[in-house]
Amino acid sequence: MTIPNYFDMIAAKYADNPAVIYHHEKIYLTYSQFKKMVDDAAKGFIAIGIQKGEHVAVWATNRLEYLISIFALAKIGAVLVTVNTNYKIYELEYLLRQSDSSTLIFTEGFKDSNYLEIVKKLNPQLQACKKGELENPNLPCLKRLVFVGQGSHDGIYNWHEVIELGKNVSDKELIHRQKSLEPDEVINMQYTSGTTGFPKGVMLTHKNILNNANAIADCMQLTYKDKLCIPVPFFHCFGLVLGISACVTKGATMVPLDHFNPLKVMETVHFERCTGLHGVPTMFIAILQHPDFDKFDFSSLRTGIMAGAPCPIKVMREVVEKMHMKEITIAYGQTEASPVITQTRVDDPLEFRVSTVGKPLEGVEVKIVDIHTKKEVPNGVIGEICARGYNIMKGYYKMPEATKQAIDEDGWLHTGDLGYIDQNGYLRITGRLKDMIIRGGENIYPREIEEFLYTHPAVKDVQVVGVPDKVYGEEIAAFIILKDGCKVAEEEIKEFVKANLARHKTPKYVVFINEFPTTANGKVQKYKLREMAIEKFG
Ligand code: ATP
Repeated sequence: MTIPNYFDMIAAKYADNPAVIYHHEKIYLTYSQFKKMVDDAAKGFIAIGIQKGEHVAVWATNRLEYLISIFALAKIGAVLVTVNTNYKIYELEYLLRQSDSSTLIFTEGFKDSNYLEIVKKLNPQLQACKKGELENPNLPCLKRLVFVGQGSHDGIYNWHEVIELGKNVSDKELIHRQKSLEPDEVINMQYTSGTTGFPKGVMLTHKNILNNANAIADCMQLTYKDKLCIPVPFFHCFGLVLGISACVTKGATMVPLDHFNPLKVMETVHFERCTGLHGVPTMFIAILQHPDFDKFDFSSLRTGIMAGAPCPIKVMREVVEKMHMKEITIAYGQTEASPVITQTRVDDPLEFRVSTVGKPLEGVEVKIVDIHTKKEVPNGVIGEICARGYNIMKGYYKMPEATKQAIDEDGWLHTGDLGYIDQNGYLRITGRLKDMIIRGGENIYPREIEEFLYTHPAVKDVQVVGVPDKVYGEEIAAFIILKDGCKVAEEEIKEFVKANLARHKTPKYVVFINEFPTTANGKVQKYKLREMAIEKFG
């Protein structure tokens, strides 16, 4: 089935159930109201000339128009190209060009970025493109721009104008478009791996996303009665697949936030009585450590997903105990797997739900291979995690060589992550191949040292990276954020590790820091910490 057909079926079945709630904007929409908005936008997109198969980039925070666009673009067979909200002009140009986007839908901006100003700088090139006078073929070639915001701007459609134009498009035309879609067609392109060379456009199909979302929802036992708070971005699989698509597969209520803000998450959960909450570990840490944490009632919470980065056991336990999320799950995956490969289930014993990333989703296979020989290793042995199944991407857009490197001839996706399958069949992540530290010939997994340092009473958050060293090849550096009001000496941290872990795992360097550099989706950018460490100690 295609996503739009599934969406229409759910919208009819749960017509009066709340579909969307934006607490702070006071937006409350039932499934039938939301579907009407989606259909109106889809007609608007047809009216401005977007054809089936065209690539449409959306550069926006999690606002309602984004949510509408996701389903409206799917209905007309356009490919949604998601754009990181933190991008500046250079990255935007690369993405628009590499993805061959014909249209850009954008909002006013995010943080210190004024998107309108940036887009206006792109404009002369776009005009040249329209006239076929493009001087620099490396620059993007857009046919149309749609602004979601105040005012009218030359050469740019306003969102409301698009909706108005859509009134001239018949229901029949929209249905005709929707009927022409196939489950194996690409519906979404997401750019990933900005940390290792140029970002690559991961092509995901209806089949990839719909089936993955459905399996994810099953692991959480999500139903139409659930209200899922989604503070993770729509431009990433976490928001798009684990969040909104999972809700839609069951007729559950999507409760997104425009962008992550710990206080607003707590207010939303409290006032809307949310039953689920998603977040990367740093988001949960920010909530748990928030000075107003005790003012809010989390008793409505039941489930949710922590994912995207290693989920410290201590944080998982706190989420279960202090936030009432007794049925929280952990998911593991990557964009290339649309994204979830393994997930814990709500009925797994708690011990496994806080310390492992679960078992493969139904229809997904996992194997662990030796990092050098690429041969499968037995349970208990650490190696690279490989996955195969319906969820593996169609490939990287216009990058056949990179696709071949990622997916082997037998269809196995090589994730670049390290882990092992324990005696109970649960997958345990030990780190990323590129983050593994090799000190004096010993493989050291930063994750193990991080997990241990979390048990120190003064440590709020910690990241461990390798720094090049002339003698040992690499040395260990620990970046630590201390809890408010706590003071510790570097030596004390080193002693703490030395006394409890093997000697070679003791960090040579300890750096106290106020915050970690993070991506727009809240994930810690370890490579930036590594760069800082190299500058300081390398
Ligand atoms: P890149 O830095 O390559 O661009 P990304 O973080 O942007 O990566 P994603 O596909 O979003 O790309 O992230 C996937 C990666 O996140 C996985 O390969 C894995 O390293 C990490 N990850 C995801 N979930 C978990 C988890 N539950 N536990 C540990 N690590 C996880």
